[in-house]
Amino acid sequence: MSFHMPMPFSRRLGRVKPSQTQEVTLAAQRLRRQGVSVIDLGAGEPDFQTPDHIGQAGIEAIQTGFTKYTANAGIPELKDAVVERYLSDYNVRYGVDEAMICAGGKQALFNVAMALFDSGDEVITHTPVWPTIPEQIKLAGANPIFVRTYAEERFRVVAERILDAVTPRTKAIVLNSPCNPTGALIEEKELEVIVQKTEEAGIWLVLDLCYERLLHDDAVSHNLPRVVDKARDRVVLIGSASKTYAMTGWRLGFGVMRPDLQVQISKLVTNSVSCTPPFIQKAGVKALKNGASSIIKMVGEFRDRRDFLVKELNQIPRISCLNPHGAFYVFPNVKAFGKSSDEIEDYLLKEAGVALLSGTSFGKFGEGYLRISYANSIENLTEACRRIRKALNNL
Ligand code: PLP
Repeated sequence: MSFHMPMPFSRRLGRVKPSQTQEVTLAAQRLRRQGVSVIDLGAGEPDFQTPDHIGQAGIEAIQTGFTKYTANAGIPELKDAVVERYLSDYNVRYGVDEAMICAGGKQALFNVAMALFDSGDEVITHTPVWPTIPEQIKLAGANPIFVRTYAEERFRVVAERILDAVTPRTKAIVLNSPCNPTGALIEEKELEVIVQKTEEAGIWLVLDLCYERLLHDDAVSHNLPRVVDKARDRVVLIGSASKTYAMTGWRLGFGVMRPDLQVQISKLVTNSVSCTPPFIQKAGVKALKNGASSIIKMVGEFRDRRDFLVKELNQIPRISCLNPHGAFYVFPNVKAFGKSSDEIEDYLLKEAGVALLSGTSFGKFGEGYLRISYANSIENLTEACRRIRKALNNL
């Protein structure tokens, strides 16, 4: 197809890269269609079914006709449940007019980016990073500024390095904890320093907490928002039902923020999707209010799988793998093979029938690493490790 216009698409999208994650999924699907057995450890979603009682709440809502537009920011019942959840999890008290319901954590973060960032702004984030974060910053016209995290420091965010990246153009800092792809958590004391030192400049702090319930070590707690409460006029907390309740395809996310930001975001929602589908919001109420027992079961299972996978990977010569505290990914170091992460990703897909992601899908500092999801059965993880070991032996 040819166009007469020199630049047929928007400049805005010209700055955005296609998703590398999607490319691996498509390549795995192509191989499967050719009859090749592929174990997919690339996916960023739980392999569990959405708990039955949550699904039923959605079905009942449809059957009772709860299928019309709702308020842009969501139904009061769900906003109440969100507010209660932040209170019980973090002891942070928000009003219902400070809660926002969106079609996924991703859309919530997108709306925040559109509502806060402008052309010429700098927005600091950490890397290796979930690629959507910088792409959303670019879509909003701003420039992402990357602050590196290091395996030697368990990929933790160090406040001092974040603060070193601050300039007069810094509009916001976007942090993700537990982190995709590294599983690292942000420590409360680091966040405390960031909050204190950015007060005068009034820099926004956006916390992507979409994996917040997937914590695997009893010694670890996730108390960030206790600190955040001190700076609530410039802090935004974003959460999601996707990973916690195995609801990725439902598309349900939420956030809390100061009420005037919520009003700005409502303008975006009314002019794009109008609202999150009503029956999905009803399922969300069930998840947030009655989902605790399902979470305990899933998190227990994830922990067993993580322990198993980390142990197996560390037994493969030339791989070293940290034991991450949260989410459902490991990020092993494969530098000793003398090949790039992209080459190893490609090789393992073709030679071993194991789909996983090159660390460079998460920025250039992911070079030398792979992201492997353990949202898969122990049987599949066992077979995948056997195949990986055999294929890497030949490298
Ligand atoms: N934040 C991170 C770090 C993620 O990895 C994801 C999804 O992969 C999300 C947010 C958004 O998830 P969802 O839009 O399904 O709520």
